[in-house]
Amino acid sequence: MSAVYDVEGFYAGLVENQLIYPTGVQGAYGRGAVFEDILRRFDALVLRTAEADGAEEMMFPPILPRALIEKLGYLENFPQLAGSVHSFAGSEARARELTGRLHDGQRWEDLLDPTAVMLAPAACYPVYPNFSGLLPEGGRLVTVLGWVYRHEPSPEPTRLQSFRMREYIRVGAPQAVVQWRDDWLARGLALLRGLGLPAESDVASDPFFGRVGKMMAANQVDQRLKFEILAPVISQDKPTAICSFNWHQDHFSAKFGIRQADASVAHTACLGFGLERVTLALIKTHGFEPEAWPEAVRQQLWS
Ligand code: ATP
Ligand code: ZN
Repeated sequence: MSAVYDVEGFYAGLVENQLIYPTGVQGAYGRGAVFEDILRRFDALVLRTAEADGAEEMMFPPILPRALIEKLGYLENFPQLAGSVHSFAGSEARARELTGRLHDGQRWEDLLDPTAVMLAPAACYPVYPNFSGLLPEGGRLVTVLGWVYRHEPSPEPTRLQSFRMREYIRVGAPQAVVQWRDDWLARGLALLRGLGLPAESDVASDPFFGRVGKMMAANQVDQRLKFEILAPVISQDKPTAICSFNWHQDHFSAKFGIRQADASVAHTACLGFGLERVTLALIKTHGFEPEAWPEAVRQQLWS
């Protein structure tokens, strides 16, 4: 594809080629068959690449207990991204009020009550509580594929409100966890470059809320706790993060009482491939029609 980067043109091309189906809400488009085929084949390639590591597979729904979100401090750090599930739990009279308001074109949402769940903002969050207690010798390695929600509506096709992450989560001795993160950073770069993506890695930070959040983000960069692999998709100057690596130190271990086999402190780290973003990076780099992609790329995905 031409090296022109513009949000509107790329979005229009994705729609024209039935790769995506707009729904009228930003960041909530549907995915077409070809888009899904690319995404699932990339995910399968990641799984093949990591097969020898023997990760345990877990699968969670795209909702999390409200109490878990509270315990994780998500609302202190990222209230602007959170999504909450509400439902109707009122009387018949209140139900009639709701339908009455709907028919009159009035707002009705304040008649709903919060449920016990919120939308999952990261695929790895439901995993950590399962590590509580003493770990087996050598720690554990888990993989999850999950839908995550983040309230960040945007016209950019790369910024979705709901998207999938393939995550790997490692828990164990601090040095082993950092080594695992470093090894995966090199492996992730090789994997993505092997698919023809001009990928680069960099230190990064999370979008913590507010003024205090700015300090937390600066601290995260200083301590080199987060890395990203980026590739140009909608801009040459501001490449898009397609894969993230987080070293949490003892953040989750302290919250969930996770210890090594000898009861010493355990660390955790996770990495996540943003599956829609990788798919979009491949489409931007190689074109709207996968049949015309370079043979070397096709062989890896369609073998
Ligand atoms: P943690 O799990 O510790 O919260 P994380 O690394 O899983 O952090 P992020 O770094 O915020 O979370 O996101 C991981 C990956 O998900 C990013 O590298 C990117 O590929 C993808 N991603 C993030 N936000 C969006 C979005 N709005 N739309 C599409 N993909 C996204
Ligand atoms: Zn994670």
